[in-house]
Amino acid sequence: MKSYANSFMELIYPEKNVCFICEAYDELIGDRYLCRDCEAHFKKLTPPLCRKCSKQIDYGYADNLCSECTDTNKYFEESKSPYSYEGLVKKAIYSYKYYNKAYYFKLFGNILVEFMKNTGYTDFDFIVSVPLHRSRMQERGYNQSQLIAKYISEKLSIPYADVLKRTRKTQKQSRQSRLSRRRNIINAFETKKSADKIIHSSVLLVDDIYTTGATVNECARALINKGVSKVSAITIAR
Ligand SMILES: [Zn+2]
Ligand SMILES: [Zn+2]
Repeated sequence: MKSYANSFMELIYPEKNVCFICEAYDELIGDRYLCRDCEAHFKKLTPPLCRKCSKQIDYGYADNLCSECTDTNKYFEESKSPYSYEGLVKKAIYSYKYYNKAYYFKLFGNILVEFMKNTGYTDFDFIVSVPLHRSRMQERGYNQSQLIAKYISEKLSIPYADVLKRTRKTQKQSRQSRLSRRRNIINAFETKKSADKIIHSSVLLVDDIYTTGATVNECARALINKGVSKVSAITIAR
């Protein structure tokens, strides 16, 4: 059976061999939703990376940790992303969130599935996504992270668990300073009753971008406090 999102998207968007970004038609695209030109403009994160948060670091950092991960404890085990948050990737994520391009979830979902397979980052019991506040969900009509999380869940046969909720509405992040953004998000998440089933499991948390890491860390805090054994994260870019 096809997921609701899938059957809905196929009705409104012709997608085989079409690049979602530049709308070029090319038979080489197949069902990857991305042409070679656009893909070449998606800047990959290149090593050396912090082994915890994937920040690009210089060679010679102690334990391969960035200075922030050396100084502060995180609730998550590690966070990975294929791309650097700049240029065309940044533009595409912005369109996905703010220009109603919900169908981009397939493009990004496919990228993350391939990345996970290629890097052996697939050993998880459940997939969880960063929730939106109810009012933001109503405004946007979809949760961009949840669409991707469900896509990954379906493709890799790892169950999706709807276990997090956002208790406080946070300001649109782009308008805030780094410090106030971080303060604003502390304790903004809690687990739902349904979270009983994920106790003692290993969870992959999905979000669109990793900026300060505060969102991922706060979701991980809620999950760990609930009794989850290990939280890892994936985002499209960081
Ligand atoms: Zn393209
Ligand atoms: Zn780090």
